[in-house]
Amino acid sequence: HAKRSGRGKVVVYTREMEEAAKRVTRIEQALRRAVAAGEVEPHFQPIIDLETRRVRGFETLARWTDRDLGPVSPAIFIPIAEERGIIGPLSQLVLRKATEAARNWPRDLFLSFNLSPSQLVDQNTGLHILTILDRTGFDPRRLEIEITETGLMNDPVSAGKIVEDLRRCGIRVSLDDFGTGLSSLGRLREFHFDKLKIDRSFVSSILDDRPSEHIIRAILAMCEGLGMEAVAEGIEKEGQAARLSEFGCQGGQGYLFGRPADAETTLGLLRDTIRGRPALVAV
Ligand code: C2E
Ligand code: MG
Ligand code: MG
Ligand code: MG
Repeated sequence: HAKRSGRGKVVVYTREMEEAAKRVTRIEQALRRAVAAGEVEPHFQPIIDLETRRVRGFETLARWTDRDLGPVSPAIFIPIAEERGIIGPLSQLVLRKATEAARNWPRDLFLSFNLSPSQLVDQNTGLHILTILDRTGFDPRRLEIEITETGLMNDPVSAGKIVEDLRRCGIRVSLDDFGTGLSSLGRLREFHFDKLKIDRSFVSSILDDRPSEHIIRAILAMCEGLGMEAVAEGIEKEGQAARLSEFGCQGGQGYLFGRPADAETTLGLLRDTIRGRPALVAV
């Protein structure tokens, strides 16, 4: 009897795995076509100064809607793009479109851009980025690259070389999702980061639990000592923003200040803000 149910389980499991593999392959094929056709779009989410509540820059976030599959989350398609070798062309497409849009924004706004772990083992990554900036006429000093702790783990020497090359050209580097990856504080001694982004998981519980508050305060003290600016991710409530600001966190990002929006919408919001209608300045 037990054997029969055991067998049943094996069959179900295999079928599920097969279905999952088919789905990944379907997404991979659709994504290849979309990248070749230039159909992946950058969206932009404001990053603000928590004290003044003014916009300082935007994070670029890739968006893709397939004809048949509908909108696919980057949390799904970015890992598939990495695994199946599409991340390079995808990334270049999104960076090109993002810098083409952002070069017309006020010059004091920065643009940040995510790099995947596999891009940090590819020594051509730096050249690809700089070529795009050169072609679109986007000042490297306005660009920030976001990398995760996991991205540094695979090959720290290679990652360090890429990061140093970019920094020499004026591009700033920030450590994304801090506190969630396979982190080692030792990395902060080996690499210099201009910015550290505190992961949303700490921010979401800052008002409810003491450990999160202590962790955030410790991270902020460390940032100050190491000369890094801190940005808190995933701020959804005014209370969280107020608390973070009180603790000395300089930057903030989250639905409270703005959701990711396409280039046209973002430009409209910037125009309104310049005209004195503070669309992007949360009161
Ligand atoms: P990330 O770099 O940590 O980006 C922040 C994510 O948090 C985004 O999810 C953003 O939409 C979401 N978010 C922002 N504010 C809030 C908030 O207040 N509440 C909640 N619940 N979420 C918030 P998204 O756009 O789905 O992107 C997921 C991840 O995919 C990104 O995480 C990044 O790692 C990756 N990704 C997105 N675009 C690119 C890209 O062009 N290249 C690469 N390599 N990775 C990308
Ligand atoms: Mg990011
Ligand atoms: Mg992040
Ligand atoms: Mg995150």
